[in-house]
Amino acid sequence: MLLNIEHVKKSFAETEVLRDISLHVEEGEFVALLGPSGSGKSTIFNLIGGIMEPDDGAITLNHKVIHGKRGLIGYMPQQPSLFPWRTVLENIVLVQELTGKPNRQEAKEWLEKVGLQEFENAYPIELSGGMKQRVAFIRAMLSKQNLLCLDEPFSALDEFTRISMQKWLLSVWETNRKSILFVTHSIEEALFLADRIYILTKRPTMVKEEVIVPFARPRDESLLNTEPFFHLKQKIFKQLKDELDEGL
Ligand code: ADP
Ligand code: MG
Repeated sequence: MLLNIEHVKKSFAETEVLRDISLHVEEGEFVALLGPSGSGKSTIFNLIGGIMEPDDGAITLNHKVIHGKRGLIGYMPQQPSLFPWRTVLENIVLVQELTGKPNRQEAKEWLEKVGLQEFENAYPIELSGGMKQRVAFIRAMLSKQNLLCLDEPFSALDEFTRISMQKWLLSVWETNRKSILFVTHSIEEALFLADRIYILTKRPTMVKEEVIVPFARPRDESLLNTEPFFHLKQKIFKQLKDELDEGL
C-alpha cells in the first residue's frame, strides 16, 4: 500500500472538519475523492502534503508516517499558484531547482505535449486559467514522486478542454502509472478516470462509501454514453444528494 490514511481527524477552532477519515491508494492506482464543497477535500490534501498535521490518526506513505513532511508527493493545488515573476518554464522547473538539477529539456517536452510550447517564456499573467492549470500539472508531474495529488485540476476549464485534458491525463497515466489521488466534485469525471471512488459525507466528514469502478481500460468518451456508466452515475448522484438533502 502506497498511501494509507487511518482514522484521521482534523478541526479548525470550533469547526470539526474531518471526523474520521480512512482511505488508501495502492501502487499505480487512480483514486478519486468525491464530496460536497466544504467537506474537507483540500484539507485532506494539505494533511498528505505536510502543510498541516492531523489532530489524531495516522498518514503513512510506504509505511512511514509523514505528518508535517513536505515534498514527498507531487501536489497540484486547487489554485495553480504560479509565481508571477517567473516564466512558464521557470515555474515548471522550480521544484527541481529546490531539490536537485532542473531538467529544462523534459519540461519543454511536456509543454509540447500539452500544447503550450509557444508559451515557455511567457509570464503567468499572459495565460488563460486552463493554461495555468496545465503548467501547474506539469510541475506536479515533474516532481518525480510516486503519488500525485490533484485537487480539482480541471474544474475551471470549459467542457471541451476538460474532456481533452481528461483523456490526456488518462493516456499519461496509462503509460507511466504513477498513483493518483484526484479530488473532484464531478461524478462523471470520477467515473471516467478512477479505479475507485471514495464518497465523502458533508462536514463533519467521514467516508460514506467506497465505489469500485468496473469499466475496462483504456477508456474513451464512448463510455460516457453506455448504460452501465449512466446507471452507476445515477446511483452515486443519489448518494451525494442524500448527503446534501440532510442538511436542508
Ligand atoms: P473542500 O476542499 O472539500 O471544499 P476545504 O478542505 O477547503 O473543503 O475546507 C473544509 C472546511 O475547513 C471549510 O469549512 C474551511 O473553511 C475550513 N478550513 C480549511 N482550511 C482552514 C484553515 N487553514 N483554517 C481554518 N479553517 C479552515
Ligand atoms: Mg477544495
